[in-house]
Amino acid sequence: MPRPAPGELLLKVTAAGVCHTDHQLMATPPDQFRHPLPFRLGHEAVGIVAEVGAGVVGVSEGDEVAVYGAWGCGRCRVCASGAENYCPHVRREGVLRPGLGGPGAMAEYMLVDRASHLVPLGGLEPVAAAALTDAGLSSYHAIHSEIDRLGPGATALVIGVGGLGHVGIQILRVLTAARVIAVDVSPAKLGLATALGADRVVLAEDDPQRVVDEMTGGVGADAIFDFVGAPATLDLAVAAVRIGGSVQIVGAGGGSIHVAPARVPFGVRIGVPFWGALPDLYDVIALARGGAISVTTTEFSLDDAPLAYAELEEGRILGRAIVVP
Ligand code: NAD
Ligand code: ZN
Ligand code: ZN
Repeated sequence: MPRPAPGELLLKVTAAGVCHTDHQLMATPPDQFRHPLPFRLGHEAVGIVAEVGAGVVGVSEGDEVAVYGAWGCGRCRVCASGAENYCPHVRREGVLRPGLGGPGAMAEYMLVDRASHLVPLGGLEPVAAAALTDAGLSSYHAIHSEIDRLGPGATALVIGVGGLGHVGIQILRVLTAARVIAVDVSPAKLGLATALGADRVVLAEDDPQRVVDEMTGGVGADAIFDFVGAPATLDLAVAAVRIGGSVQIVGAGGGSIHVAPARVPFGVRIGVPFWGALPDLYDVIALARGGAISVTTTEFSLDDAPLAYAELEEGRILGRAIVVP
């Protein structure tokens, strides 16, 4: 049982999300980590404040909160803007984010470094809320940055309807007027995409580029959100994006885009968004509280967490697997 140092808080974890990034971490050779091993996974966390460290004000034992996990140094201009996910001092200062180097949420209890990283759940159920902190926040951030191009008549392409993608479709629906085309390798994931409001779904093997051409009169998609990031999906993104459009590479599936004249359409913006800013998490939680977005979940006990990871790897999780200690 960890004890909170001055300024820290101890949470009793009520739910933790199982993100595909965890698989990538588990597949990373030990010598490629720049922080000590082992560490505990779990970077999507909600919990109840169990103990408040000395000097912490404004948070009380019993508060139900979501954890903003993209901790920055907390003392620079970028962090002051709320975009701690892009703090340039994290590496140099050795900031360890929970579940990504520091002890994460796959446990009964976890420490949080400061009160501002806790966002009130406002009555949301823990299992429904856990994945908002990353699957929700990361897809929100990627989409929100491209919102100006997604007005009436625009077309958005979502590649990968997993944990992130299935929330992304809902965020596109509620924040933009764009038509949404969703691509996945799994018919079941595409069924979920349709249920969540995608206008058109297409299997990756069924020539998604043709569908984009059909729906856009050969112009291409205004914005593409690649939640896979594999070589094949990034090839699709480059082929399907319109001149002056946008490709946001969210998935870390090992693919890359050669950005140069004649290699991508002119005027294209390529982005590699990471997680989201602290104010964005308030927005995502507000959307969920208002019923505009929801996470499709499957629950696992903490003992069964390895099973959750296995099922995720086999493509059998619809939405997000959530571990409940
Ligand atoms: P997930 O496993 O829940 O979802 C991935 C989805 O992609 C699945 O539905 C799968 O069927 C589909 N898919 C796989 N190959 C495909 C292909 N070739 N074409 C179309 N669809 C395909 O994973 P997740 O937790 O949603 O994470 C998605 C990716 O995003 C991972 O690479 C993860 O590491 C990354 N990620 C990035 C950020 C960030 O901030 N940039 C945050 C969280 C996760
Ligand atoms: Zn994640
Ligand atoms: Zn900073």
